[in-house]
Amino acid sequence: MVKKIVLLAACCVFWLGPAAAEEKIRVAVADDQRTITLRSAAGLVIDGRPGGSKKTITASRFRSRPVRVRSTSAFLEMNGRGYRGLIEIRHRENGLLLAVNELDIEEYLRGVVASEIPHAWELEALKAQAVASRSYALYQKRTSGSRPYHIVATVEGQVYDGRRGERRTADRAVQETAGEVLTYGGEVIPAFYHSSCGGQTESAFELWGLDVPYLQGVDCECQRISQYGVWERRFSPAQIAASLGKIGYRLDNLSDATIAGITPAGRVKQVVLRYPGGTLSVPAEKFRSAVGTTSIPSVFFDLELSGGEIVISGRGMGHGVGLCQWGAEEMALRGQDYRSILEHYYPGTRLEKRRTTGHEKQTEKKAAE
Ligand SMILES: [Zn+2]
Repeated sequence: MVKKIVLLAACCVFWLGPAAAEEKIRVAVADDQRTITLRSAAGLVIDGRPGGSKKTITASRFRSRPVRVRSTSAFLEMNGRGYRGLIEIRHRENGLLLAVNELDIEEYLRGVVASEIPHAWELEALKAQAVASRSYALYQKRTSGSRPYHIVATVEGQVYDGRRGERRTADRAVQETAGEVLTYGGEVIPAFYHSSCGGQTESAFELWGLDVPYLQGVDCECQRISQYGVWERRFSPAQIAASLGKIGYRLDNLSDATIAGITPAGRVKQVVLRYPGGTLSVPAEKFRSAVGTTSIPSVFFDLELSGGEIVISGRGMGHGVGLCQWGAEEMALRGQDYRSILEHYYPGTRLEKRRTTGHEKQTEKKAAE
């Protein structure tokens, strides 16, 4: 009986093997580390050899060749966090360590979806997120060049928390959309997304100069439910001067603050600050990131100097391009499925099932031609 089970398991591994190995993604999960500790109660496998249950790698003593560590079980732990797949440790030019988690993209998405969208939301909204995240990751993979990873595990890429970020509802959304990506002209698209657009999504061309037909501004009903519907933030001129000082702008005795340039959707292009010595014009997204992207949730705002304070009143949260997560939830609550949601936010794209590395290679080849 035991033999039979082992044989059956081996068959399953053989049968599932090619599918599971089809699309790997390499995620930078920890950078600039002095020490990395890997653990697995079941046992580590380091560069193909048994490596005990714990391995600590110190930057100062690390050899130059990358080391690949996996577990004999489904997970291994790195610096206290569980990961599927393997961890590759590399030496950085600055003498510190980079950890890259290499795993199947479907497994990766299990750790992304519930980190990017509340797991208690409607399944169809989670499924739309899963497709957007899969497409975004594959686009990053295709355009990562010689970088030792495809995507980072923070908001700069997609928030990925390894096993800790997994939730049952998100798993279901990943499974029910397995391999599905958005394409345009046969290529996987960079499916940007954000929290809440404030009623109108933004054209990627207006914001970043990215001229693609599927990232245009569309109407959105997120304001019905979004917790970022409308907001107001107040800052002292000293706070703003300190924030802008960190990115090289010098600002003394602010005398006026206003906005210049508005996108067709209504977002601010420039923030204009006047002081006795002159005028400072700062791109709005740069202004927002200098002050803090949570302190100023979006650039869909109005700004004035009032009572000695800079008052910023706006709506929405995030850059506003592509899928609006609160809008997706609102559509799902109205009974729309994930296909309709994706069609709405990425008009003109196709939903395609892609699983094989071979296919991706063909796409790469086509892109290079
Ligand atoms: Zn919206």
